[in-house]
Amino acid sequence: IQRINERLQLATQAANVGIWDYHIENKSLIWDENMYKLYGINPDNFSGAYDAWERGLHPEDLNRAAEELQTSIRSGKNFDTEFRVVWPDKTIHYIKADAIVYRDNAGLPVRLVGTNRDITESKNYEEELLLLNKSLSIHAEELKRSNEELEQFAFVASHDLQEPLRMVSSFMDQLKRKYADRLDEKALQYIHFATDGAKRMKQIILDLLQYSRASRPAEGQEKVDLNELLDEFKALRRNLISEKKASITSRKLPALNTHKAAMTQILHCLLDNAIKYSKEETKPEVEIDAIELENEWKFSVKDNGIGIDPQFYDKIFVIFQRLHNKDTYSGTGIGLSVAKRHVEFLGGRIWLESDPGKGSTFYFTLPKTK
Ligand code: ADP
Repeated sequence: IQRINERLQLATQAANVGIWDYHIENKSLIWDENMYKLYGINPDNFSGAYDAWERGLHPEDLNRAAEELQTSIRSGKNFDTEFRVVWPDKTIHYIKADAIVYRDNAGLPVRLVGTNRDITESKNYEEELLLLNKSLSIHAEELKRSNEELEQFAFVASHDLQEPLRMVSSFMDQLKRKYADRLDEKALQYIHFATDGAKRMKQIILDLLQYSRASRPAEGQEKVDLNELLDEFKALRRNLISEKKASITSRKLPALNTHKAAMTQILHCLLDNAIKYSKEETKPEVEIDAIELENEWKFSVKDNGIGIDPQFYDKIFVIFQRLHNKDTYSGTGIGLSVAKRHVEFLGGRIWLESDPGKGSTFYFTLPKTK
């Protein structure tokens, strides 16, 4: 018995667990050595009575914990609760208490035997986590709001900018039409530059509008067969494909429940780029693949084009960022930023791998919908 006792004591000490035994009828309470440590008191200052336990409890937790203890005694159900203990030095410690009710032969509850365990550390950790979570969700909410405001701003600004721009363009036209014979070569060249600038600005405004719309699809979800989307692309770009002698191959693609317009833009952007950024004298070869994973689909669009230096992997997904001037390869730098917005709106990710000079593979995922 002594050895068993010794082992039990060592084990409870190691686990920082105190054992208590409460005799209901005479309200007497027996604590083992660890219990005193958990309450920060000296065994000499403990009367061994129920109210000695009550004295250690935090005033805000006392009534609830005492009530729960009485409920256990009345119902015979296990005692299982948490409360704070205030040590004589006023520091606060969190305790987890458990106990089972013993009954006599007549079935009446006579004893409660249980444990106390100090859970201050995990409680503090839990509270820190809760606070962190709260501040994170406040930040996420702020971010969402400012994002929406920015989108709204881009939408309104690009709408409102169109009108004055139209005015600039049409008066430049008038100027050219009515006064061309009275203007010298230089003046006509200035008009040409101004008109060209207005045209480019119009394109930027249209791109901005497209970008701001990218995360709020106009229509709902529908079944979209990606093989059909691919066929549509091939039909639409028939001339370009034959001009460049491009080959586009794919494995059988899935049909997904998704936003058709967004999906079309993602696919078109990646395929357009795969054909556009090809090497001179090399026929573009584009391969499309779809792999079914546990919770998502992973798509890839692989080309044999000029490739991208890894240092630009992030840059190319930013609106208006391009790696070439418009004379080498046409474009405004909007495609990938819109594709990224669509993919992220649909709950997926987009990234790439590339071997500069050999080709690139763009990947994107889409979560499976039920
Ligand atoms: P745009 O094609 O109009 O420039 P994108 O946003 O689609 O706009 O692409 C941004 C830049 O990323 C391109 O200017 C190009 O430099 C690079 N890029 C995109 N796709 C490819 C590709 N498949 N191979 C090589 N470079 C690419």
